[in-house]
Amino acid sequence: MISKAVKAFSKSARTPQLAQADSPAPQSIATPADASNGSAPDGSAPDASEGSVADGGAVGSFDDAELRQRLSSEQYHVTQKAGTERAFTGVYWDCHDAGTYRCIVCDAPLFSSNTKYDSGTGWPSFWEAIDPDAVEIRSDRSWGMIREEAVCARCGAHLGHRFNDGPNPTGERYCMNSASLRLDPSTD
Ligand SMILES: [Zn+2]
Repeated sequence: MISKAVKAFSKSARTPQLAQADSPAPQSIATPADASNGSAPDGSAPDASEGSVADGGAVGSFDDAELRQRLSSEQYHVTQKAGTERAFTGVYWDCHDAGTYRCIVCDAPLFSSNTKYDSGTGWPSFWEAIDPDAVEIRSDRSWGMIREEAVCARCGAHLGHRFNDGPNPTGERYCMNSASLRLDPSTD
């Protein structure tokens, strides 16, 4: 199931990485504190295309087999294994459409297109999360660096990293992976 990803990765191995290196941190699959309502909808897979994951349910308790089936190999690798898509290969780095960027795993709203800007990195970049609580920042010490890992606060999916070289008004750069996101054109 990862053959597609392997091919894509080896093809463009020389793409500039900038400040975002591949980080296979194995422990980065989240277990949100509020996973008390652990009723995973196993059996029937949720309708991924329309993101009909019930709010408040199944938080942080997605079934691994279900995710492997529902997500593309790259989406799985990035969100569940803290992978990084190659720069300039994702579907959103050069996307200027209006809408809300949602978590590809749990459909939580993460970023607004209003805060998206062209960082020149080849990854979709935002200067602010849609809500301060939507994106959780964790310390990432993989690859001999100390970085700020950005994960979905609801399900723990790896999104990318946050850096401090962004534009005004926040000066922050949320360097995201397209594979972690789904653009919902119907802005609230
Ligand atoms: Zn999520």
